[in-house]
Amino acid sequence: MACLRARCNPAAITIIAVSKGRTLEQIKETIAAGISDIGENRVQEALGKYNRLQAQGCRLQVRWHMVGHLQTNKAKEAVKVFDLIHSVDSLHLACEIEKQAAKINKIQDILIQVNSSGEVSKFGLKPDETIGVIKEIAELKNLNIRGLMTIAPLVDNPEKARVYFRLLKELRDRINELRLTSYELRVLSMGMTDDFEVAIEEGSNMLRIGRAIFEG
Ligand SMILES: *Cc1c(COP(=O)(O)O)cnc(C)c1O
Repeated sequence: MACLRARCNPAAITIIAVSKGRTLEQIKETIAAGISDIGENRVQEALGKYNRLQAQGCRLQVRWHMVGHLQTNKAKEAVKVFDLIHSVDSLHLACEIEKQAAKINKIQDILIQVNSSGEVSKFGLKPDETIGVIKEIAELKNLNIRGLMTIAPLVDNPEKARVYFRLLKELRDRINELRLTSYELRVLSMGMTDDFEVAIEEGSNMLRIGRAIFEG
């Protein structure tokens, strides 16, 4: 329904099963059910699960997403596991990921996390500093900025999150207009269990879903 209202193509939306705190068995069940993108918010937990899946000879192709805050000292491990890091929120962190990615000859896909609601409890760049920081990150050769990510505030009614999703899309469109990068920023990672329908209506193409998948 949300997709009909937003006139989008459901095939163009990536659904990430956010599996923090879930067991390996639960993850394998979601993969068997057709999920091909797994999200974690801690490097150590992701690494453990990733290694155990490999050891069990799990040949299924899954992409790993880092959706939680990333500390600089974990960048080295993060580049080994994650296909996409959603939580780049400073030039300092970007430079460290660049350094570690270069060491293993990897072009690391990243998203820039924006604190669209301005809550002090949230990580992410302020909307009005995002363009300046992206200009600098765009110079880093081993990083590929795929788009933007935001976490909407916890609200009683998902309608209240709409304004923050809209802000993220407008910011992404503005960045593309300014041509800060030689490629287009396509990804909008926004929408969780409680607000994904509104996020889709506002142009999300990457949903991060935990409870609706694992407790549904
Ligand atoms: C846990 C988590 C999610 C999933 O949340 P649900 O409300 O369970 O869907 C999405 N994004 C991030 C960053 C998370 O930490």
